This record gives sequence, structure tokens and C-alpha cells, in this order.
Amino acid sequence: MAENDKWIIKNSPFEMLDIAFKRLFPNVRYEAFFEPNIRDDEKENKVCGLTDFADDGTITIFIDCALTINDAVEIFAHELAHAGVGVGHDHDEVWQKAFDDLFDEYNKVGEEMFSSNINAPKGADYVNALEELGYADSAKEKEGDE
Ligand SMILES: [Zn+2]
Repeated sequence: MAENDKWIIKNSPFEMLDIAFKRLFPNVRYEAFFEPNIRDDEKENKVCGLTDFADDGTITIFIDCALTINDAVEIFAHELAHAGVGVGHDHDEVWQKAFDDLFDEYNKVGEEMFSSNINAPKGADYVNALEELGYADSAKEKEGDE
């Protein structure tokens, strides 16, 4: 059975990122949702993605559904990197490496499935580009306690 037999979209980048994530972080579980009303952050930046770390260990990712699919994939990868390394890392080097590793693995998944490379920007470039656009994301603990 092909990996994408049960996928509605046969080349869904979200499913492909999930495969990459599970290879890199086999013990981390999360759920993800498209969200029409993500709240702005404290500085009133528009938030396009969010990762919630609940006290019981549950990790929930939200992605702004107004994004293009390409941007939503970038945001999903960004949030998955938060999920992978945990809430304490913000956008530090550990997070950056997880983000870059995710895209490398995502490209491998793409090559394995479709024999084609998906060129993706690296984490730092992407975060900077987002900030220039006035976007932000946040990785937060649900109850607000560290
Ligand atoms: Zn982030």
C-alpha cells in the first residue's frame, strides 16, 4: 500500500511534513487544526500559527486558514519545530536546527514519494521574511505558567 493511499490530497504537504516529523520526533504526539480566528499577539502582530503546550503534555497546533497553502505549509513546519523541541526554545538555535531538519526530511519524503525536490526556504530566512510582513507566531503554554 502506498503511503498516500488514504490521503484525500495525494501530494498533501501537511501529510508529508507529518511523516518527516514522526521520523525526527517519534515520541512527540500533537494535533493540528486550521483556525479561522487566531488571536493577535501581545504586540498586536497578526499571528498565523500557534502551538499550545498544555499542562497534561498535549500539544495542539493551530494554523491560520486565511494563508495560502504554501504559506500554511511553512507555518506548519515552523510550529512542528516548536512541538518537536518544546516550549522553552522559542526561536533559538535548537528550534532553528529542528526547523531546518524538518525541511530536509520533508524534501527526502518528497523525493521518495515523487522523485522530485521541493525547494523550501531555511528557517532563519523565513522567520525574517515573516517579520518583515508583520507576521508573528507564538508558542505558548496554555495556562500562561512556565
Ligand atoms: Zn515560532
